[in-house]
Amino acid sequence: TIGMLALDARGNISGACTTSGMAYKLHGRIGDSPIIGAGLYVDNEIGGATSTGVGEEVVRNVGSFLVVELMRQGYTPEAACKEAVMRIIKKKPETAKNIQVGFLAINKKGEYGAYAIQQGFSYAVCNAEKQDLLIKGKSYY
Ligand code: ASP
Repeated sequence: TIGMLALDARGNISGACTTSGMAYKLHGRIGDSPIIGAGLYVDNEIGGATSTGVGEEVVRNVGSFLVVELMRQGYTPEAACKEAVMRIIKKKPETAKNIQVGFLAINKKGEYGAYAIQQGFSYAVCNAEKQDLLIKGKSYY
């Protein structure tokens, strides 16, 4: 999945995501990306979140919505992403060892963060001053 989150000059947040789905997927499978709250969620009062990885686990945990709701409770974007990842790991520790799920989030202040189950989840950040094209997201493993 490619997920994008943006905060404009007026402080409005928007997001988008796109996916090729999973290899060998069942005909008709719908992953997390097309489901608002799973692969993408934006609440303009709080922030936005998007996900990548095994969509079934993201859908089961309504992952992006969860990340935004955690930010509403005061979690930083990275802490919210981490908590969403930890829920997936806690429910299915054995499965989680072999799958990737990553979340990316931004809040109203323009703070951002990410967290994934496995290493190798990197993202880009651009604003008027800088273009960091490869930020290594933290991960559980
Ligand atoms: N999240 C996508 C899906 O489950 C896979 C991906 O990361 O592209 O369909």
